[in-house]
Amino acid sequence: MKLRWLRAPGIIRRLFPDFVWRYNSGEKKVYLTFDDGPIPESTMWTLDLLKEKGIKATFFCVGDNVRKYPNLYQRIVDDGHAVGNHTHNHLKGWYNNTQKYVENVILASEFIESKLFRPPYGLIKRSQAKYLQTDYKIVMWDVLSGDYRQDISPERCYRDVMKNVRPGSILLFHNHLKSEKNMRYTIPRLIDELHAQGYEFGVCH
Ligand SMILES: [Zn+2]
Repeated sequence: MKLRWLRAPGIIRRLFPDFVWRYNSGEKKVYLTFDDGPIPESTMWTLDLLKEKGIKATFFCVGDNVRKYPNLYQRIVDDGHAVGNHTHNHLKGWYNNTQKYVENVILASEFIESKLFRPPYGLIKRSQAKYLQTDYKIVMWDVLSGDYRQDISPERCYRDVMKNVRPGSILLFHNHLKSEKNMRYTIPRLIDELHAQGYEFGVCH
């Protein structure tokens, strides 16, 4: 029952068919994404691991974190990863009017150079999306890792993601403190297992 929530619900996908939910290129490729950073605690660790494993990922950054940690942001870019805009203050689209929301994305764009956008919590109004889509491709996810959930074990987090991953999946993880334990357990195992299964790793585009 709970597993169903790991996949972005079909009804939301149908409401926003013009968002990117998965890459259907037919290739055996997955797309790791890390939201909410950069923060020193998890982003450094994530970058070191990705370098060690030789793969690239996509970081949907909070503008204010980039302002606070410009060197971390620069390292993401220098390491060859993709970046995306995730608003400046991690705003919930449903609770903010379109002007305020769009302005917050524009503010973030002063710190994040990208044509990709992911709405925090996945919550965005049609009117907000309409504005942003003139400049951005809106990238959602195929598999939500639940790394932030305190009620699941790291083993469970790993297992649930592995059960749901499929060619073209965009996998959502976080670079925030709440997700540290599950993320640090899951990511290295997931990379090794998916490599063993013949998957490659790509960046969002
Ligand atoms: Zn977020």
